Amino acid sequence: MSFAFPAPGIAGVPVACRGGYLRGMTVQDEIFDRLARSAFRSRFRLGPKERAYADAKGRETIAAHARDFIAARLAPAELPNDGRQTPMRGHPVFLAQHATACCCRSCLQKWHRIPKGRMLSAEEQAWIADLLMRWIDREMGLPSPPGGGVE
Ligand SMILES: [Zn+2]
Repeated sequence: MSFAFPAPGIAGVPVACRGGYLRGMTVQDEIFDRLARSAFRSRFRLGPKERAYADAKGRETIAAHARDFIAARLAPAELPNDGRQTPMRGHPVFLAQHATACCCRSCLQKWHRIPKGRMLSAEEQAWIADLLMRWIDREMGLPSPPGGGVE
């Protein structure tokens, strides 16, 4: 797998003054653009079961699950099962994590320049939750609220 495209964020903090932004793209648009070029990442889609689950639970609950999964499975500095902590199915957030390369600390480092080996900051965790919810919103055919709406 190639990671030839430069990451748009430094240490997980999105930068606002890049060419894409000036052309009207958000940092997240750039990330989605990059992810779409990956055959592995772009094959993840919400299936009927995950859509029904997301519909039944509602966006607030799914966003709360995203925050909980990030805090428990990604945020700690030491993760003995890193690379295997995110199932390939079973929850819309799991699929969003694989689709956006937020599935483990190795992928966060490669794709989003968030270093391994230290605790994720509250800001980084909120940024990841926002990205996951934007992906789920896209899959559900919903517009994301300004700022992602997961604060
Ligand atoms: Zn991963």
